[in-house]
Amino acid sequence: MANQTRRQLLKAAIGGAAGIIIGGPLRAFAQDAAPQKLSDDLYLLRIPGEANILAQTSAAGVLIVDGGSPAGSDAVMKAASGLPGGGKIHTLFNTHWHPEQTGSNELLGKAGATIIAHENTRLWLTQDITWPWNGKHFKRYPKIAQPNKTFYTTGKLDSGVFYGYIPDAAHTDGDLYVQFPKQNVLAVGDVMTGQGWPDIDYWTGGWIGGIVGALQRLQTLADAETKIVPARGPILGLTELKAQAEMYGTIYDRLSQLLNRGRGPSEAVAAKPTKEFDAQMGNPDEFVRRAFESLWAYLSPDA
Ligand SMILES: [Zn+2]
Repeated sequence: MANQTRRQLLKAAIGGAAGIIIGGPLRAFAQDAAPQKLSDDLYLLRIPGEANILAQTSAAGVLIVDGGSPAGSDAVMKAASGLPGGGKIHTLFNTHWHPEQTGSNELLGKAGATIIAHENTRLWLTQDITWPWNGKHFKRYPKIAQPNKTFYTTGKLDSGVFYGYIPDAAHTDGDLYVQFPKQNVLAVGDVMTGQGWPDIDYWTGGWIGGIVGALQRLQTLADAETKIVPARGPILGLTELKAQAEMYGTIYDRLSQLLNRGRGPSEAVAAKPTKEFDAQMGNPDEFVRRAFESLWAYLSPDA
């Protein structure tokens, strides 16, 4: 019943989205090692092979949003200390539990840093996880590597940095955003991607309807000047945010219709529900399959 209500609300919210074509090709994104300066104290660290990391410098040291993978954590420390005005990392945000974001937790936890995450992210990191779609296994983190400052709705640091939960369950059920109001920068983790189709981790709560809801919610936090930092790809803006919300709204509608007609994941892939977007976004098959399965996971009575 609750799901039904939520679906109806979502339907109403995305009404009229179908048929609108996403504008403009996605910009090509070349990764290099040089940090990209976003403001006097804010940098995008570009470490080859790693997800995006946002770093803020201050007299107290460095705050980072996401910490790279375990293999990348040394490079992250080096990059943070090498920034103009850089130094020791005192605060780390985990936008969600995935190892691409939490790989520096152990190192920084041992060094006494504050690790901020939504409570659901901490809970996922306290247990072993195996993804059903590829059998990939993740071991629970030791206590020292788990977030040591969790929250449920929103929070604010003395520096003015604001953060909040994205309760739509877009990528996982622990997604958060971090907002730098003075610099007008918004970090959103894997809730938004600037590079191809997203991964939907339905095993830990994400679903295609959550992407639509989250992209609408994030629009209330952004204006035309806001720099939006996704976990992958280049910096995005409100235009891309709106276009993606429309695109995923269209795809969500189509997948829901297929589900209502009793179709399965392979039939959903064959129905090409993303066809007008594929030239820009790349091969959709894996995404469509997972997005369809995420509907199953979300709507199943046991979930
Ligand atoms: Zn992720």
